[in-house]
Amino acid sequence: MSAKIFSKDEWAGVLEGLKDAYEVYVPVKEGDFHNFRPLKEGTRPSFEFQNTRMSPKFLTEPQSERMFEYTLDKNQPDAHILKEDEKEIPPRAVVGIRPCDAFAFQLVKRNFDTPRYKDPYWLKRYEATTFVGLGCNDPCETCFCASAGSGPFDRKGLDVLLYDLGDAYLAQPLTDKGEALLEKTDGGKEADEASWKKAQGLTRQVAGKGSRRVSTDKLREKDVNALYEAPFWEDVAFSCINCGTCTFLCPTCWCFDIQDEVQMLPMVGDRMRNWDSCMFPLFTLHGSGHNPRSSKTERVRQRFMHKLKYYVDKYDDGIQCVGCGRCVQFCPVNIDIREIAEKMNAL
Ligand code: SF4
Ligand code: SF4
Repeated sequence: MSAKIFSKDEWAGVLEGLKDAYEVYVPVKEGDFHNFRPLKEGTRPSFEFQNTRMSPKFLTEPQSERMFEYTLDKNQPDAHILKEDEKEIPPRAVVGIRPCDAFAFQLVKRNFDTPRYKDPYWLKRYEATTFVGLGCNDPCETCFCASAGSGPFDRKGLDVLLYDLGDAYLAQPLTDKGEALLEKTDGGKEADEASWKKAQGLTRQVAGKGSRRVSTDKLREKDVNALYEAPFWEDVAFSCINCGTCTFLCPTCWCFDIQDEVQMLPMVGDRMRNWDSCMFPLFTLHGSGHNPRSSKTERVRQRFMHKLKYYVDKYDDGIQCVGCGRCVQFCPVNIDIREIAEKMNAL
């Protein structure tokens, strides 16, 4: 199927029409920020944004989810038996996701979809989702996607790429899933040559603006122990307050914790999976009381070593960061991964 053009006047109707076939997620303005929310009655999609504050990683890994339920009541025939929480995930479409965030799902997939282990919850949600990206006409000052394997109009991980042409969106299908979605849209017309020229001009113009370049080319060749023992970690960690904001906002941070929540009368429990953060002291606290990362410096080092060295060595295919810039923008004490990458690269 060829690309389509939708005027902005008809766009709200196009999104509404998709609801017949998909659970649709759109960017919504909440106070000073945007976040992805389900398109329901009363939701007002807003595509005037640079990027959402929270990343859309919740689409495949909710912040909190029930995995199993059980009863501890010995009078019940199924006492102490874990019952898996049924998860019916309908076809979903996230419309307006930025290319860096779509690429992040490809990095995270390496953790949840391996030859030895497949996370059924993550995969079910990923496979049910169609990713409709929106190219970045105006990248954030904190972003550095072009140095992190992505780019303002990068296509990796996307099923459709939208170009914002001012008064219209040009929608280019990139996969079968993307074609299927466009076939279900009402309105629009086939993209003409003039629109394509405009889209190409736009990508050239944005590429010309350039985002900050960050050097990561020497990370692979660095000695892991030398980086681990580098003299700058104390300085880097000095101001960190271990708030966890960076990890919670990050589209490529995937760590979680599993906890049982039990109540009395009736004696039932839920086994929950919740986002966790390597920046929290409890994250690595052993049952024995020993904590291998008990100091702030060890935790901060872990975050950057994981993203910029351990991951690089394990996969030999880029860093575990897509350069979205959220952690740079929202860290309350201005710790900047771009500066740390430069330090590590230059050691
Ligand atoms: S957001 Fe900043 S202060 Fe908070 S844990 Fe991350 S690096 Fe530390
Ligand atoms: S580490 Fe920071 S810049 Fe990189 S993907 Fe995560 S939030 Fe974005």
